[in-house]
Amino acid sequence: MEMLKERIRKDGVVKGTDVLKVDSFLNHQMDITLFGEIGKEFQRRFADSGVNKILTIEASGIGIACITAQYFNCPVIFAKKTQTKNIAGEVYTTQVESFTHGRIYDVIVSKRFLGPGDRVLVIDDFLANGAALEGLFDLIHQAGAELVGAGIVVEKAFQPGGARLREKGIRIESLARVKSMSEETGVEFVD
Ligand code: 5GP
Repeated sequence: MEMLKERIRKDGVVKGTDVLKVDSFLNHQMDITLFGEIGKEFQRRFADSGVNKILTIEASGIGIACITAQYFNCPVIFAKKTQTKNIAGEVYTTQVESFTHGRIYDVIVSKRFLGPGDRVLVIDDFLANGAALEGLFDLIHQAGAELVGAGIVVEKAFQPGGARLREKGIRIESLARVKSMSEETGVEFVD
């Protein structure tokens, strides 16, 4: 998606070798006009998939998922990071290792909101090692729901998540795929 790549070139900031900061337009301050274009593009790519729910993970996926859901006319569920145990058996739960914080979270979704018959599109801002997506896929599997695929805004294609998940046959649609990046030269895209 050219408009997104241009914005990343203009306003993205590379930190070290593997972190891209996009907090001026994507995951802190949010450019809702851009989000609208992102949502439209996800809708175009998954138009015939019968999506009836969008699943994301808090916090930075929520805004993108909500705007995208307007184009699918469906609800958004965000998996919550929590320390509460599943005592009453009311939630699906899995564990996710955070790329940016380097720690492991318990992540939950209420059983009331996901179940057999749901066709779920997963949305997130970044794909790096794939831990966040794998956690969300696990929740969908536990619920007996159908995974349609994942819509990712920025995939860092030099990290292993995207290749591993595609090898498993999962449909991953990334709007900007970063081939390489450095503080000196900035961001280079796959195509
Ligand atoms: P993964 O689980 O694929 O390793 O990492 C995905 C998650 O880590 C995303 O939900 C995103 O919030 C965060 N993340 C990974 N890489 C980056 C990055 O380069 N920049 C930012 N801002 N977040 C990232």
